[in-house]
Amino acid sequence: MPIREVIEVPDPRLKNVASRWEGNAAETKALAIDLFDTMRSFPGCVGLAAPQIGEPWRAVIVDVSGHKKARSCHGLLILFNPEVIRADGAEVAREGCLSVPDFTANITRATQIVVSALTLDGERVIEADAFEARAILHEIDHLDGKLFLDRVSSRQTDVFRRKTYQ
Ligand SMILES: [Zn+2]
Repeated sequence: MPIREVIEVPDPRLKNVASRWEGNAAETKALAIDLFDTMRSFPGCVGLAAPQIGEPWRAVIVDVSGHKKARSCHGLLILFNPEVIRADGAEVAREGCLSVPDFTANITRATQIVVSALTLDGERVIEADAFEARAILHEIDHLDGKLFLDRVSSRQTDVFRRKTYQ
């Protein structure tokens, strides 16, 4: 069942802290495929976290390939147990989320990050900046039960209603 349902607010599972991924190779590949197929089923989607498909594990997928706001671009990243080692800088930009379909918001994020994670090719350390860094940080937030709305400075001035996704 590769394309999975994406859960939306106010589903309480989005507030849970995800558990460390300890799956074997076959399980890891299966979760990676579900994340990939689900993300690709939404045109323009640049990232998804396992809790968004109801899987309570620390796993995310990000791909900012071809995005006009991207500087660094590592192509397709499927990260298990990602850890932010460094985060520098700060920049405000608009974010959206498949699990929060009715709103976008201005969110402050680091502009340069270093992340370590297990991938399908083993342990990797990834340096990302700008839009790719933002996408990775947004997805890692999901693993800690945080949505972008939790990072909004002002609900009055920084949150925007929208009709359709992308
Ligand atoms: Zn999201």
